[in-house]
Formats: sequence, C-alpha cells, structure tokens
Amino acid sequence: MNYFRKDLKVLRSMTNISIYNPEYVREIVSQLRNKYSSVNRSDFVIGSVINKPLFDFIIAVILSQNTSDRNAIKAYNNLVKLFGSPLDPVKLLESESSVIINAIKPAGMYSKRYRWITDLAKLFVNKDFVENLVEYVKNNDVDDSRRKLLELPGIGYKTADVILLIYFNKPSFPVDTHIMRITKRLTSLRSLEYEDVRMFWMNNLEPSEYFEVHILLITHGREICRAKKPLCEKCVINKKCRYYSKM
Ligand code: SF4
Repeated sequence: MNYFRKDLKVLRSMTNISIYNPEYVREIVSQLRNKYSSVNRSDFVIGSVINKPLFDFIIAVILSQNTSDRNAIKAYNNLVKLFGSPLDPVKLLESESSVIINAIKPAGMYSKRYRWITDLAKLFVNKDFVENLVEYVKNNDVDDSRRKLLELPGIGYKTADVILLIYFNKPSFPVDTHIMRITKRLTSLRSLEYEDVRMFWMNNLEPSEYFEVHILLITHGREICRAKKPLCEKCVINKKCRYYSKM
C-alpha cells in the first residue's frame, strides 16, 4: 500500500474530514512552497489594504467575493479616488448612489454590494461602534469573534475568516473557491462543506502557516488546478491527489 492510499484510507474512515494528518499536508505544502516561492501578494486585493483601517479592509474583501482580485482592486481603487484613503464612510454616505455603483461596477453584483457597503458605512461612522467591535474581536476567541463579524452586512464565513486571520491575526483559515476545489480533488471527497475544508487545513497546519498556505493554494488553483481542465501533468502535488490517481 503506498503512502497516498494509506492516507486516503484514513480520510475515508472518517465521517468528517476534520482529521489530524499533518504528514500528508506537510508534503503538499512543501511542494507548493517550492513551486510558488515568488508569489506577488500585490496581486491579491488584501495586499492593497493590509495596513488600512478595518472599514477599508472589510470593503475590499467584500468587493473580492465571487470575482477576481484584479476586478476587486479596480473597484476598491475607484472608491479610494472618490472617498479618500482611508475610505471616509461619511463622504461615502453623502454620495449619490449612482456614483458608488459606477465605482464598484468592475467587481460585479453591484446592487448587493452597494447595499452592503452603505449599510457598513452607516455603522462605521460611529466611532464607538468601531472601537467596540475591534475590542470585542481582539479580546474574544475565534468562534465568538467570528459570530460577531457574521452579524455585519455582507459578511459570510469566508469574509469573516479573512478578516480574523489577516486583519486581527487570529487563527482561522479562510476557504475560497480555489481551496474548496483543490481540497475536494486531493481527497476525492466531493461532499465536503466549508467548515470541513477549513478544519482540515487548520488541523494540519500551524496557525503561523495559515496565511501563507491560503495564498499558496489560491495561486495553485489559479495557475494549475483550474476549475476546467486542471493541468494535472504539470502539478507538483499530483502524487498526493486522488483525482489524478483516478485519471
Ligand atoms: S493533480 Fe490535478 S486535480 Fe490534483 S491538485 Fe493537481 S491539478 Fe488539481
């Protein structure tokens, strides 16, 4: 029985993929590190807002939902031209809806995003609200902080996990569409849900690795493990991949 089959047996024996299997993950991460040693973080929308206030950070991550980072960066930069850097929620609320909608159009889904952005601006004009939110997240554990963030307009699990990990440096692993697809293919477990995939990576990585591996997996999904016609022959982790072993 080869190494991969042994791993798979362990995975399959669980009803949930939240298992401890660091050796398997370690080899995958090591290959991805070698392959993508020079990833440019400015290609990611979070690279534009990494040192900005929470309002900017949340808006940028909301703009990146269900679209490419390139489109999200364009939309965010349009908002910066109109409402300053950092973004001023007061100016934003004084603006005509058509001006905001035009600015965020490159990211798509502009009606929904317009509503979320203006609802967030209404909250973020209140300094007490912002201070209380930041204090709450800083002083509570990941689960409670996550629940708090999920109450905000436009924030789902992935967005909350990005905010926790990158803005607050809290140990949570965000799962985007690339990471979901790669994990399903690696394990051949198609019914995995967001929380399963999140826990799989969290159980097998050190918290200090979460951000790096998040970026590595997204890069791998964009360049090699594409949704359509993945480039498996060129893939550095194909020996660990159940999808590839079945081809
Ligand atoms: S072998 Fe193919 S399906 Fe598996 S991770 Fe690599 S590109 Fe994706």
